[in-house]
Amino acid sequence: MLVLKFGGSSVANADNIRQVIQIIQNTLNTRNNQLIVVVSALGGVTDELIQLARLAASGNDSYQERLQHLFTQHDQVLSALVNVNQLQSVQPILVKKYSQLTQLLQGVSLLQELPNSTLDAITSFGEQLSSLIIAFAIQAHGIDCEFVDSLQIIRTDSHFGSARVDLSTTYQLCRSVFSGSKSVYVCGGFIGSDTEGKITTLGRGGSDYTAAIVGAAMEVEVIEIWTDVDGVFTADPRKVPTAFPLTAITYAEAGELAHFGAKVIHPKTMYPAQQKGIPIIIKNTFNPTAPGTIISDQQVANSRPITGVTALTDVSLLNLSITQTGDSHQTELVLGQLLSLLNQANIEVILVSQASYENSFSLAISSKFLSPATQVIHQYLATNGLGQTNISLKTTSNLAIVSIIGHQMRGVPGIAGRFFQTLGKHHINVYAIAQGASELTISAVIDYEQHLLSLRAVHQEFFTEPSEKLHIFLVGTGLIGSTLLKQLPALGNQIVVNGLANSKRFLVQPEPLILDNWSEQLNQGQPWQLDRFIQEVINLPLPNKVLVDCTASAEVPTVYPQLLNHRIAIVTPNKKANSGPYSFYQELKTLTKQNRVKYLYETTVGAALPIIQTIQDLVATGDEIIRIEAILSGTLSYIFNTFSVSDEPFSQIVRQAQAKGYTEPDPRDDLNGVDMARKLLILAREIGLAWELPDIIIEPILPASCFTANSLDEFYQELVKLDFEFNQKRALAKQQQKVFRYVGQLDRNQAKLALMLVDQNHPFFNLTGSDNIISITSRRYQTNPLVIKGPGAGAEVTVGGILADLLKIKTN
Ligand code: ADP
Ligand code: ASP
Ligand code: MG
Repeated sequence: MLVLKFGGSSVANADNIRQVIQIIQNTLNTRNNQLIVVVSALGGVTDELIQLARLAASGNDSYQERLQHLFTQHDQVLSALVNVNQLQSVQPILVKKYSQLTQLLQGVSLLQELPNSTLDAITSFGEQLSSLIIAFAIQAHGIDCEFVDSLQIIRTDSHFGSARVDLSTTYQLCRSVFSGSKSVYVCGGFIGSDTEGKITTLGRGGSDYTAAIVGAAMEVEVIEIWTDVDGVFTADPRKVPTAFPLTAITYAEAGELAHFGAKVIHPKTMYPAQQKGIPIIIKNTFNPTAPGTIISDQQVANSRPITGVTALTDVSLLNLSITQTGDSHQTELVLGQLLSLLNQANIEVILVSQASYENSFSLAISSKFLSPATQVIHQYLATNGLGQTNISLKTTSNLAIVSIIGHQMRGVPGIAGRFFQTLGKHHINVYAIAQGASELTISAVIDYEQHLLSLRAVHQEFFTEPSEKLHIFLVGTGLIGSTLLKQLPALGNQIVVNGLANSKRFLVQPEPLILDNWSEQLNQGQPWQLDRFIQEVINLPLPNKVLVDCTASAEVPTVYPQLLNHRIAIVTPNKKANSGPYSFYQELKTLTKQNRVKYLYETTVGAALPIIQTIQDLVATGDEIIRIEAILSGTLSYIFNTFSVSDEPFSQIVRQAQAKGYTEPDPRDDLNGVDMARKLLILAREIGLAWELPDIIIEPILPASCFTANSLDEFYQELVKLDFEFNQKRALAKQQQKVFRYVGQLDRNQAKLALMLVDQNHPFFNLTGSDNIISITSRRYQTNPLVIKGPGAGAEVTVGGILADLLKIKTN
């Protein structure tokens, strides 16, 4: 014999049930076995029944309409699967069930009371109905099939909601009904009855357990659990997209995985199967050729350090500290007595965490038990005369438990370390930790809000290659931002965009954006609001997040500290942060160290030229920078390089530069020197000088009249007035074989920008076009300064620099 169990989604509708019948038919054709088919309620029906019961209990009559809808749903599934004649014989049976259920709900509604026993009776109808319908549907396909009423064969105690099964009686009952010669027996999972014949249920997800029980009773060859995934995965595939199915795991591992949240199998399923040595196999109804996962006693050699990672949600923590006694025995005693009292009250303690050097312990329970559990504890304290002065109880809710599981961990040092380090690296707050006695599991109690991030981070740590994707969030879709979006696809998918923003809209999403039509997608985004954007970026449970700030805004940098505190890296060509108040610069530097997160801004000075990295390397390796000379404005470089060798008037050269797009819309924003002063300030800070922007002396290129002019036209009129003087100076310079350069000069005492005349011995003499140049004199490079020269502006090269910064984060 074989057992085949089909879960809620496998039998959610007529199409799916046809698929199930196909699987049954194939099994009959290919293997010479009798089958016991255990089915769940149609997908979602158990939840709906619970809701209806609660509505009725609260006196809300809207349950009636929903109940009719539920009946219609079942009628429709049935009529899609059987012919008219069969329908006539089945329908009365269903109608009888409908009226029993209706009466139960009417009773609840009348009394406005919902005892657990009634709730069990109500929820049992999911499986009562589905098993009938499926049994008839199988018959309708010409298969020799018999319906078996689970209420008659699964004998339990009267602990409604999660009844314990009397296995020996149940096994006998099973043997008496499954011993015939039918090809297929069909029964409902999840339900049973107590010694008085009252309906009970085995706990949510309990159909798996039913399958194992009937399988053990009949000592079947294998128990097949057919569900909606390809097997037991390394983590819940709905929560961790990179999870993958496991070929084989042990009963013990499956038990721990299930206990700590892997919903794919009910934790009790393993016990009867293991007792009889029956393998369980998890298969996908919607992908039957996938091999699935075998659960057995066989321990498979495995090169991976763990088997899986799970998260259990809806958890609360009870923390008890015992004061006024240094006696750890008393703590043990209290813990032991409380555990037994909680057990008597049918409150399951998921884990116990105890610090041996402290007289305190924590118990993690499902949040639904919070109020009865605190009651039990308070009662215990009261009856034992342990007033609040001796023991304090603190409860915390809205928690989750993330666990790593695997037989490979036994005796292998370092795995717990890696686990907690990973949580720490992602700023996940751990409330309590525990290791299972079997050494199969290590668990951490964390905030519910962080469970997705924890799962993914831990999964990445243990199951994926170290070089993982970067998830970037780009603010600013101007020339630089849009060029970045254009160049990114060339890097494959190692850097993906999960968020995008400009001054109008933003969007943040868990799936990487398709970059072909990013601007249409962004147009559909939410109205721009910096704090909301950042909050969404922070909340998104992804590892390796990077904010790329391609704006020139002073507002965006205000959120850098918050991001760094959440270990979100930052890459930016925006100069505002590092050339703002020194205290802010210092704060950013401290936060990057504290949080071990990258903040990279190579492109704030000289685009992609390796200026900042070089200076940082020199400083880090113990060199001392004595002097820096630099031309760090592509615009000013172009204007004076061109002017020096041309015959045209100065005003004309400026006009040309503007026409070629080399200047800001108003060229005065370049000619005022402020942009270059900011860059020089950034360099000053890199070499350890705590300066502010006004400390950079700007010797003006042009008189004040040019800057006070009210319009561009007026500005040019003022500029023309200077042409004569500039001409004269140039003539003189040419005579001396010198050229004009607007140079930033920095030593450890002062920094200034000034128009200089340099001769051919000076490294800046041969500068052409809009190139930038920097000459660094240090103790190491004293007689012959270190010179870096090349294009220092332009979207293409700047984006090159941004990508290089991003790759530095990736390889870190
Ligand atoms: P069924 O209705 O067939 O009993 P369930 O919904 O109870 O199915 O269980 C299957 C679901 O379990 C999957 O869809 C998946 O989201 C979830 N799940 C959680 N953890 C795991 C895991 N480690 N491996 C596979 N599935 C898991
Ligand atoms: N139908 C029940 C539930 O939803 C049992 C099961 O599906 O295993 O919990
Ligand atoms: Mg299930």
